[in-house]
Amino acid sequence: MRFVLAQNPVVREILKKYRVVWALNHSMAVLGWDMETHMPEGGAGSRGAASGQLAMMVQKATVDLGGLVSKAEKLRDLDDEEKGIVRVLRRDLDFFTKIPPELVEERERVSAEATVVWRKARKDSDFKLFAPHLEKIMELTRKIADCLGYAKHPYDALLNLYEEGFSVRDADMVFSRLVPGSKRILEKVMSAGIYPPKHPLESVKYDTEAMVRVNEGLLRMLEMPKDRFRMDVSTHPFTIGIAPDDVRITTRYEGVNFKSTLFSTIHESGHALYDLQLGEKLRFTPVANGASLGLHESQSRFWENVVGRSKEFTKLVHPLLKKNLTFVSRYAPEQLYLYFNTVRRSTIRVDADELTYNLHIALRYELEKKMLTGRVSVSELPEVWNDTFEDYLGMRPKNDAEGVLQDIHWSGLSLGYFPTYSLGNVVLGMIWHKMGDGELVRRSVGKGDLMQLRKWLQVNIHRWGAVYSPRNLQTRLFGEAYNPDRLMKYYETKYIA
Ligand SMILES: [Zn+2]
Repeated sequence: MRFVLAQNPVVREILKKYRVVWALNHSMAVLGWDMETHMPEGGAGSRGAASGQLAMMVQKATVDLGGLVSKAEKLRDLDDEEKGIVRVLRRDLDFFTKIPPELVEERERVSAEATVVWRKARKDSDFKLFAPHLEKIMELTRKIADCLGYAKHPYDALLNLYEEGFSVRDADMVFSRLVPGSKRILEKVMSAGIYPPKHPLESVKYDTEAMVRVNEGLLRMLEMPKDRFRMDVSTHPFTIGIAPDDVRITTRYEGVNFKSTLFSTIHESGHALYDLQLGEKLRFTPVANGASLGLHESQSRFWENVVGRSKEFTKLVHPLLKKNLTFVSRYAPEQLYLYFNTVRRSTIRVDADELTYNLHIALRYELEKKMLTGRVSVSELPEVWNDTFEDYLGMRPKNDAEGVLQDIHWSGLSLGYFPTYSLGNVVLGMIWHKMGDGELVRRSVGKGDLMQLRKWLQVNIHRWGAVYSPRNLQTRLFGEAYNPDRLMKYYETKYIA
């Protein structure tokens, strides 16, 4: 295997040593995939212990690179790839060195306990059960933010963990445009009555084997490479890029409402394409990754919503559906399009359509920010949740289970994560705009040539991996970063034009 990246001797030395971190991460990824797909349940204990050991080895091997990374940061003549390697490693080093080991341990313990209680609290729809754990989570999260450090707002430190360089100021700008814009478009869509809130196909049952054939047909349409890619089944669909030559997705079959597995498969394939199309020369390096969670999510949502839910794609996929799911024969592509694009106000985020989705995220962003600074206390949270929800979506959750208790994220201390879902949408809007307000999508999907879109994404985004920060990557490509107006224009064009 020839390896050409990095001419600079210090960076070359870093990459030689980094091979250990790479191999450990590679192994952990395989263990993680196996745990979600094939491992017998009883294996959880030893798998957890093994992964914990490997994680500590990753931490140690990364911290050992500290001296070399500091040395490389003083060099003036690094090229873009080399700078990227040093930048990404500095972020890892910060994460591993700024949070003391006892806090890491406490985080694991609090999270494990909270997750068990959260499941019961959600089942019983009883926030009071979960409240004391959320208190602990908030206290610990504040400590972690303090350790990580921030310029203005403690939430900046958390956002930056998931989206490099993204701050409260940026998020406020994004959501201050997304919320009124989405509300306005939603209002118009509901009163025009073109997009049905519910479609009869939602309650039609399907045969799982037939649906497996549909999904396999989809993967053929997307030309997923057979020798580097596979699909399995898991409770929660996910993608794992073990290496660019070994990328795996999962899907699930609920037996009813076939669009759910269909779009989940397209969504995960979008993630997979990013990992499959990373530049060959980035192999074995810290930049052989997506630029950020937001950028990764832009890829999955681009394929799922802009491509998968388009009129052209509905036509393209219609024969495959008809062939395997006989009940689809009764529906013309135009009717299928409406089934793929129902719009309704609903309380559960994961069931939300693309138009209302950002309102669900804006709510979580506002509340996380306020909880972190103590402007909203844990005890008043359910009320504030419901009030804000009513303001954003014009309806009120009936209970805690369909309100404040619906997501697992807080139990895992993942505050700051939610906004990346909306950033995925924002970046998708910018891609749509750059493609001539969707013209390239209409043209290539209309011809059945999905490869054209794949190539565009590879050349402009995928091949760079994490060489550039998410903001720099966007600025290079679009001349701007995180501009939500493009997304609003996409929604307007699609739903009310
Ligand atoms: Zn995703």
